[in-house]
Amino acid sequence: MDYIIAIYILIFAFGLSVGSFLNVVIYRLPRESLSVSKPTRSFCPVCGKPIRWYDNIPVLSWLILKARCRDCGEPIGARYPLVELASGLLAVYLYYHFGPSLNFFFYFYFVMCLLAIALIDLELMVIPTALMYPPALAGLLCAVLEPSVNLPGPWLWMKVEPLWGPRAASLAGSLAGLVLGWGSLKAVSVGYKLARGHDGMGDGDPPLLGMIGAFLGWQAIPVIILGSTIIGLASVGIMMLISKKSPDEGWGLKALPFGPFLVLASFFYLFFGPALVNWYLSMIL
Ligand SMILES: [Zn+2]
Repeated sequence: MDYIIAIYILIFAFGLSVGSFLNVVIYRLPRESLSVSKPTRSFCPVCGKPIRWYDNIPVLSWLILKARCRDCGEPIGARYPLVELASGLLAVYLYYHFGPSLNFFFYFYFVMCLLAIALIDLELMVIPTALMYPPALAGLLCAVLEPSVNLPGPWLWMKVEPLWGPRAASLAGSLAGLVLGWGSLKAVSVGYKLARGHDGMGDGDPPLLGMIGAFLGWQAIPVIILGSTIIGLASVGIMMLISKKSPDEGWGLKALPFGPFLVLASFFYLFFGPALVNWYLSMIL
C-alpha cells in the first residue's frame, strides 16, 4: 500500500515538473523571437532576469514569493502555478486510468498539448502547428501500439478486427477520428466563408479537432462539437450578463477563440465520455 502512495507522489511530481516546462512552452512557442530551448533558464517576462533554481520549484515558489518576482517585484500571474497544478493532477488521473503503460505517456502528451493550446489560443488567438501535427501522428501511433476497442467503437471494431486484427481496427478508429474531426470543421469554415464572405473560424480549429479525433476516436467528434458549442454559448451568455454588452460592442475581441471550448469539451469526453455513451445507449436500447 505504501509503495502505491509513493508511486502516486512521484507521478504527481513528474506532472508538476512537466507543467513547469509547459509554462515555458506557452510563453515562448507563439512568440517567434523566442526559442523554447534557449535560454535554458526561465526568465522574468518583465525585468528579464533569470529565475534562480530555488525560485523555480513548481507551485511552492510562487506561494513563497507571494506571487511576485524576486528581482523587480512585479506580480507573477496565477496561471503559472495553476498550469503546474493542473499538469500534476492530470498525470495522477491518467496514471490511475491507464496504469503503467505506453498509453499513460501518450495521453499525458495529448493533454499537455491541449492545455497549452487552450491558453495560447485564449491569449493570442493562434494555435501553433507544433502542438497539433506531432500529437496527431502520436495519436495514430498510440492506436497501433496499444489497440483498444474504445477508439474504433464496437461497430467499426467488429467490421475490421476479424479481417485485419486489433491494431488495424484501432488505427481505423483513430484515422477516422482525424479525418472526421478535421473535415467537419473545415467544411463548417468553408461554408461560413461562402455564406458570409469572411472567415468565422480560426485556421487552427480544424486541425485541432483532427488531432483530438486521432486520440479519442471518431465517435468522440459529434459529442465534442456539441459539447464545445454548448460551453461556448454558455460562456458568451455569462460574459454578456457580466459585462452587460453584446460581443460586438467592446469586449476587446474581434472574434471568440473556439480552441479553448474544443479543449474543455475534449477533457469532458476524456473523463466522462465512455460513461456518457453507455448511459445514452442504455436509454435508447
Ligand atoms: Zn522581474
